[in-house]
Amino acid sequence: MNEFDLIRTYFAALGTPREDVELGVGDDCALLAVPPGQRLAVSIDTLVCGTHFLADCDPEALGHKSLAVGLSDLGAMGAEPAWMTLALTLPPELVSRNPNWIAAFARGLGDLALEHGVRLVGGDTTRGPLSVTVQVHGFVPQGAAIRRSGARPGDRVYVSGTLGDAGLALRQILAGVPVEPGLRERLERPTPRVALGMALRGLATAMIDVSDGLAADLGHILESSGVGAELRLESLPLSLAVAEAVVAAGDWALPLASGDDYELCFCLPTDRETEIRGLAERGGCPLTPIGRIRKDAGLRCLGPDGSPVLLARAGFDHFPGPGD
Ligand code: ADP
Ligand code: MG
Repeated sequence: MNEFDLIRTYFAALGTPREDVELGVGDDCALLAVPPGQRLAVSIDTLVCGTHFLADCDPEALGHKSLAVGLSDLGAMGAEPAWMTLALTLPPELVSRNPNWIAAFARGLGDLALEHGVRLVGGDTTRGPLSVTVQVHGFVPQGAAIRRSGARPGDRVYVSGTLGDAGLALRQILAGVPVEPGLRERLERPTPRVALGMALRGLATAMIDVSDGLAADLGHILESSGVGAELRLESLPLSLAVAEAVVAAGDWALPLASGDDYELCFCLPTDRETEIRGLAERGGCPLTPIGRIRKDAGLRCLGPDGSPVLLARAGFDHFPGPGD
């Protein structure tokens, strides 16, 4: 199968057909229509074999995750997903050794695309070390995007779902011990909180998706907004497995500084809190208040006894400086 057969077979009709795609896969460019009054929200992420996923990972899960990380960014902006492009670099021996690899990858990508009404409108296919880049495009009404910069002193800090599950799964895989039930799903097939993000338009003052660890990502909100925050660590929403691991390790690194959670962290004025009550059910995950925005810069974490807890490492950084 050559490059063009491969594109035609697996990628030319992937995802949900949409009227706003005037021209999709097959020409030099796609031609796309943004509805009047909307802004185009765009985000791109690359997953590199050996850095973001393991060489023997399930290709269907990889297809799912390649899009999920982008949808998580759209959700964090309050944007509604519409289109994606895909840049795929494949080692020839992978394709010849496992002909089903691309079919399974396309299935994982396509199923999540269908779930969110997303159409694949173009891409690039090259030979080389395995890597997957997905760019997502979504719509958000002009002025309604939820940025990182809007947090105000007094706002309550919330997080969706539970924290640290993916980090614990990765730790167990790397240690060669059995992965506890449910955790592998959280690492390999994260659920992007798209509906929740859109529902928080007009409510949340600031939002980010937690991909590099809560401390680091909340840190981005604090820096952009020129504020600080105080977190109560015993409020963090944890699965039983992570709660036990925190107690066993005697530190909070898993929920605060491990990656791949893909939950939403957002800030909410206290007089709007009643308005998010129904959202947890509709969004399909719990929403937990974990702390408050303060005027003074920096992130203060309080332990169960109320005393400050120091964090060893803030989050994942691909290019740490000499002091990190
Ligand atoms: P060009 O040489 O003009 O860059 P290509 O030969 O790379 O065109 O691609 C041909 C068509 O197939 C284009 O419309 C491109 O967007 C699409 N395409 C290529 N690779 C992919 C892919 N992995 N997924 C979706 N569309 C793809
Ligand atoms: Mg090309």
